[in-house]
Amino acid sequence: MLRTLEERDIRFVRLWFTDVLGFLKSVAVAPAELEGAFAEGIGFDGSAIEGFARVYESDMVARPDPATFQVLPWETPDGEHYSARMFCDIAMPDGSPCWADPRHVLRRALARASEAGFTYYVHPEIEFFLLTDLTTDGTPPEPADSGGYFDQSSHDAAPHFRRHAIEALEAMGISVEFSHHEGAPGQQEIDLRYADALTMADNVMTFRYVVKEVAIKQGVRASFMPKPFSEQPGSGMHTHVSLFEGDRNAFYDSEDPYELSATGKAFVAGLLRHAREITAVTNQWVNSYKRLIVGGEAPTAVCWGHANRSALVRVPMYSPGKASSRRVEIRSLDTACNPYLAYAMTLAAGLRGIQEGYELPPAAEDDVWSLTEAERRAAGYESLPQNLAEALAVMENSELVAETLGEHVFDFFLRNKRAEWDAYRRQVTPYELRTYLPML
Ligand code: GLU
Ligand code: MG
Ligand code: MG
Repeated sequence: MLRTLEERDIRFVRLWFTDVLGFLKSVAVAPAELEGAFAEGIGFDGSAIEGFARVYESDMVARPDPATFQVLPWETPDGEHYSARMFCDIAMPDGSPCWADPRHVLRRALARASEAGFTYYVHPEIEFFLLTDLTTDGTPPEPADSGGYFDQSSHDAAPHFRRHAIEALEAMGISVEFSHHEGAPGQQEIDLRYADALTMADNVMTFRYVVKEVAIKQGVRASFMPKPFSEQPGSGMHTHVSLFEGDRNAFYDSEDPYELSATGKAFVAGLLRHAREITAVTNQWVNSYKRLIVGGEAPTAVCWGHANRSALVRVPMYSPGKASSRRVEIRSLDTACNPYLAYAMTLAAGLRGIQEGYELPPAAEDDVWSLTEAERRAAGYESLPQNLAEALAVMENSELVAETLGEHVFDFFLRNKRAEWDAYRRQVTPYELRTYLPML
């Protein structure tokens, strides 16, 4: 690392970490400060970071993780010098891990899995919109192209955007597996190659930053807002997950018709049983719930299926007989979640299923989008929360979420998100004015 810094004449190393809501934070240090940063960390005022501390315990220390060192794939504005980044773990002044650090929340969940002999691997399918501009006056944005699902040529304002974005990601050590145009105008999807959950959470944070930067360089803007257009599908982050025991995929069983082991089934059972409790974490914004509606290929009911794209959890059969690729796809997450917290919660829910020996209900082979509410209830499918308030009400009573996030993050999250819901609830929207004013 020190050699790279010198050879590439790097003047700034950005130390990155993430707040509780999933925003990337950065403090830049000169290479000369790095030795001190490794020995003692870099002190900062935690009270200014969303969710980190109360004012009287605000001194915190960022400790860079050298395994995450990467050179940013573009020059600084002076056009001469590259900079680099490292993710940090956050510690309290006495050196103990900061309980508000999302990376620590995930590390703790991973340690529990590791005590049970498991490593958690994930690969996300990341959807987002390219827009000509980010409007802030409430007018709908304009998509940067007119393409549809898998379209090759889409007359876009940002030609070859995906290629540029993928080159930048690969230059930072993030492997991309697939990419294509998604269903809505301007909507893109880039799927990352699987990695352990901590690396992937770092990768998702990097991804959002890189994609936004590349978009700006191409004269457009990228947004991970879950549902910017009422009449178009939203952007999800379907997440394929598996547990490994050493080199062995613990989800694989060649004897089972779905090639899904008893461990895999119990994991899915855990995801389903706790799905409603963890939704506030996987879908954390008021706007997230505008995506989770019937149609648009987003899940609304708590069930699992095989080829069924309306199910919350899907057990895909891409490569039968290939043990290493046996995985399940969780379809609720959106890209605007905090990936550390979302991976910690999905893992904890699945592990709970394994540890308590939950039984997997039968697969939903019907298209659950086409069922009425009553038919769904008869089939035993619960609905996912329909808005942030409902999701918070379920989360509030969840011992699993409290235990996994830790008391501090749990309380902060509930308080912060209730305030968000209240602010939203007070709004009289254009929809209401359009509908009610002439009518009532
Ligand atoms: N955009 C859809 C969603 O919000 C997913 C489309 C797909 O199947 O990839 O979940
Ligand atoms: Mg997709
Ligand atoms: Mg998918």
